[in-house]
Amino acid sequence: SILADQIAAGEVVERPASVVKELVENSIDANSTEIDITIEDAGLKLIKVVDDGNGIDASQVETAFLRHATSKISEQRDLFRVRTLGFRGEALPSINSVSNVRMKTSTGNVGTEVVYKGGKLIEQKAAESRKGTTVEVRSLFYNTPARLKYLSSPNTELAKISDIVNRLALGHPEVAFSLMSNGRELLRTSGRGDLLQVLGAIYGVKTVTKLAQIKANDLDIKITGFVSLPELTRASRNYISLILNGRFIKNYPLTKAVIEGYGSKLMIGRFPIAVIKINADPALIDVNVHPTKQEVRISDEPEIGQLISDAIRKMLSDKQL
Ligand code: ADP
Ligand code: MG
Repeated sequence: SILADQIAAGEVVERPASVVKELVENSIDANSTEIDITIEDAGLKLIKVVDDGNGIDASQVETAFLRHATSKISEQRDLFRVRTLGFRGEALPSINSVSNVRMKTSTGNVGTEVVYKGGKLIEQKAAESRKGTTVEVRSLFYNTPARLKYLSSPNTELAKISDIVNRLALGHPEVAFSLMSNGRELLRTSGRGDLLQVLGAIYGVKTVTKLAQIKANDLDIKITGFVSLPELTRASRNYISLILNGRFIKNYPLTKAVIEGYGSKLMIGRFPIAVIKINADPALIDVNVHPTKQEVRISDEPEIGQLISDAIRKMLSDKQL
């Protein structure tokens, strides 16, 4: 029901940036190689995501907007080995219930276009057949005024969108991303799999010269990434990005492990820029902790933290810093 979808939306769609995150994650899960994001008025007027992924078959489009109708896992034990970013089947119905949505999608054959208003299907027709999916979300939160009122300033909401897209791009250098806001380009990545290029696009090419590669692994965990030399720091921890199996996560102990790797080489109140990619057996990770899937439970967390700290210490000593 639309009511149940709006209740779920309370958790999944906190702000415009959450919509961007869910739509782009769907595009990534659909094996897209190019994802173009257009924002108008910090996402309240328009959030548009165009991808060149697998698309949705005409017979499945309506189902995709139903609650818990995910195509990504089919049996119970799949929950313990999630390989996609989405799996809860909540995003589309939640977004749909608090906005007006138009989707065009095609698997390469005849495409489908659907128009929803406040969760109700208004129109469905055949559409162009370019492979991929375009989702346009308009008038976000028009029917939930309290949520609208709780949002921060347009600049803050836009910064949150930009931050999310940056982290998604860092997690997927093999995808070419672009982010446009009111006609201004905020990000463009090459999609050639070059993490340094993505870092340059986000933090500036000069920053890249002050980054060092790190690597570590044990039997079932692999750590790779780039971290800043101690001369390049920031006043906030926000420049530390953790990417676990392609999903950016928030994890205090692992963030602390990054900082600890520097020991006394960081001044108090200063933090590195870092992108740490952790690849681990999905069976060691429980992603079904929170609807936004940014919090995860990791069974080997202390070991992963140790590997990260050690890798940074080794890099610093190799460079005699
Ligand atoms: P989930 O991602 O958890 O499966 P969503 O509500 O985000 O749930 O999406 C529902 C379903 O719609 C997905 O399982 C997928 O089959 C389909 N879908 C959504 N967006 C796209 C897209 N951009 N490309 C292809 N399929 C998509
Ligand atoms: Mg999804």
